[in-house]
Amino acid sequence: MVDIEKLVRPNILALKPYSSARDEYAGGAGIFLDANENPFGELNRYPDPHQRDLKHKLATLKAVNDNNIFVGNGSDEVIDLAFRIFCIPGVDKALTFAPTYGMYEVSSAINNIELLTIPLTTDFQIDVEKVKLYFADSSIKLLFICSPNNPTGNLMNKRDVEYILKNFNGIVIIDEAYIDFAKEASLISLIDQYNNLIVSQTFSKAWGLAAARVGLAYANSEVISLFNKVKSPYNVSKINQQAAIDALTKFEVYSERLTLILKEKERLIAQLQELVIVKKIYPSDANFLLLEVEHADSLYTALVAQHIITRNRSKQVENCIRISIGTPHENDELVKALKDI
Ligand SMILES: *Cc1c(COP(=O)(O)O)cnc(C)c1O
Repeated sequence: MVDIEKLVRPNILALKPYSSARDEYAGGAGIFLDANENPFGELNRYPDPHQRDLKHKLATLKAVNDNNIFVGNGSDEVIDLAFRIFCIPGVDKALTFAPTYGMYEVSSAINNIELLTIPLTTDFQIDVEKVKLYFADSSIKLLFICSPNNPTGNLMNKRDVEYILKNFNGIVIIDEAYIDFAKEASLISLIDQYNNLIVSQTFSKAWGLAAARVGLAYANSEVISLFNKVKSPYNVSKINQQAAIDALTKFEVYSERLTLILKEKERLIAQLQELVIVKKIYPSDANFLLLEVEHADSLYTALVAQHIITRNRSKQVENCIRISIGTPHENDELVKALKDI
């Protein structure tokens, strides 16, 4: 067990959070003259600051308790708040791997936290021997693991992740933005076992709600209460809470689309393998493919000229392009364009 309090910034431990009008009254219907809202209109009332209905649905789906869930304004908020809770600016550090999701770097820079990066192995796995060298540095408060990893698409070896959870004395954030597409289960099941584990997920990918900005953190209740302490009072709008609830209610829509995306992924792989310009397709547990091509920069530009926008990742992985799985029609258009190039 990690001593969580020891990892928290002293000013956050001491903080008395803002108590909103809706925090103090949790009863049912009434005459609300407490929050200086306009009594008229559709969206005139502040939303539930604790997103109780949404958490309740998620708790059932994920087999956790409501107090194991934090709902954020996208995963970006989860990442940002983790820096603000645990890392003293200019003093503490965080650790991640490369190549990986760019927001860890941006968010650490915004918060004035040094982010150390360890290269992944040639098959994009964690080099545990290298990670071990950092365990003695108590200024490292956070460690980010993206699994399935963006932009490489692979799941991280569970044995390596558990080794880190057991031996690292800081907080481990496992970013599972793509876990719904993966063949392995989420590590949310480990939050009771490791109190330093935060699993982040999102409604932006498999749930199809990127526009709504709803991100999630799953952890033990002590860690979750820290997130609730520092978040802005009404961080998730009523419209967005409702959009997430509606998506969960229509589980068959989610499930059908997920199946179709995975089927399209296999179809696209088969078609891309036929093309001479494609040198390698990396194995993917996500809804995107990382392709190694001959000249990524010119291929990217040629596709843009045909109004097909992919992600040029050649600065992260040499001559690689990342392609999201689209609709059957979009995937056909991509293959057609690639054949003509
Ligand atoms: C897309 C993505 C997210 C999602 O971020 P939101 O802010 O929830 O939209 C998180 N992590 C990774 C690695 C991603 O690729």
